[in-house]
Amino acid sequence: MESDPEFRLLIIDDETSNLMVLNQILSSEYTVLTAKSGKEGLERAAADRPDLILLDVLMPDISGFETLVALKQSSETMQIPVIFITGLSDEADEEKGFRLGAVDYITKPFKNAIVQARVRTHSQIVRQIRTIEQLGLIDGLTNIPNRRCFDDRIALEWRRAVREKKPISFLMMDVDKFKTYNDTYGHPQGDTLLKTIAGIFKAAAKRSTDLAARLGGEEFGILLPDTDMKAALVVAEKIRSAVEAARVPTADGKTITTATISIGAVSLVPDDTHKVEEFLSTADGRLYTAKNTGRNRVCAE
Ligand code: GH3
Ligand code: MG
Ligand code: MG
Repeated sequence: MESDPEFRLLIIDDETSNLMVLNQILSSEYTVLTAKSGKEGLERAAADRPDLILLDVLMPDISGFETLVALKQSSETMQIPVIFITGLSDEADEEKGFRLGAVDYITKPFKNAIVQARVRTHSQIVRQIRTIEQLGLIDGLTNIPNRRCFDDRIALEWRRAVREKKPISFLMMDVDKFKTYNDTYGHPQGDTLLKTIAGIFKAAAKRSTDLAARLGGEEFGILLPDTDMKAALVVAEKIRSAVEAARVPTADGKTITTATISIGAVSLVPDDTHKVEEFLSTADGRLYTAKNTGRNRVCAE
C-alpha cells in the first residue's frame, strides 16, 4: 500500500503506550497527530483539521463519547469521520458510538492489521468524498450528490459490507403527488420544494459515510452503511415526519405549502450471492407498495 503523507490522522488516547503503538503502525502510511485528552483532541481537531480521527472512549475528564458530541457540534469539525478505538466491547457502547455519529468501532485488544485496514478503508472514503466536488458529482439544483456519485459510492460501500460482514441499508424516496404540486404552485416552486426536502435528507444522514443523493426527478436515495433495518427505520421515520412537518412558503410569501414523501426501505448483510441491483430494486418495490397503500409512509416489506 503506498503511503499518503497528505492524509492526516489524529489519534486521541490518554495512554501513552496506545499512542505509541498506533503511531508506529500507521505513521508509515499517513501523517499522524496525537492528543492525550479529549480537551487537547478538540483543540487539535479545530486547529489542524485532520482527515480522520481515532478516538479512545475511556479517558479521564472528557470521555470519548463527550468528545465526539463536541466534534459534531462544531461546524469546523463535524465533517471529520471518527473511529472509536476502545477497551469497551459492550454492544450497547458500540451502538451508542454509532448513534453519536462514529463511522467505525474497533475494540481493544486490537490486531494491527485490522486497525490498518479500517483506517485505509475510511481514508479511501474520505478521498472519494473530496473528489465528488471536483468531478461534477453534485446535483445542480439541490446541491446534494447526484446519481453518478451514488452509483460510485454504493459500489464501494457494498464491497466493504461484504468484506466486513456488516449490514447496509438503503432508503428509496419519492415525493407524493409532485405533479399536482407543480401544477398547483408552478415549476419553480416545485424546485424550491425539492431543495427543502434535500436539505432535510442531508441533515438526517449525519454519519460521514451516510449518503443522501438525488437519483433523478423527485426521487432521492439515502445509503446507510453499517446500519441495520431497525436503525434505518428510525432514520426513515424521522425523515418522513420532518418532510410532513415542513412548511414551505411560496416566493411571494403569501401561501404556505406542504408535501409528503413515500419511502421504501431495505437492509442486508450482503455476501457474494447478493446483487446490488436486486438490493436497489427491492427498495423500489417497497416504495411502490408505500405509494399503493396510501403514500406518506415507510414500507420495509
Ligand atoms: P406519486 O405520488 O405517485 O409519486 O405522484 P407524482 O405526481 O409525484 O408522480 P409522477 O412521477 O407522475 O410525477 C413526477 C413529477 O415530478 C412530474 C415532473 O414534472 C416532476 N419533476 C421531475 N423533476 C422535477 C424538477 O426538477 N423540478 C420540478 N419542479 N418538477 C420535477
Ligand atoms: Mg412522485
Ligand atoms: Mg416519480
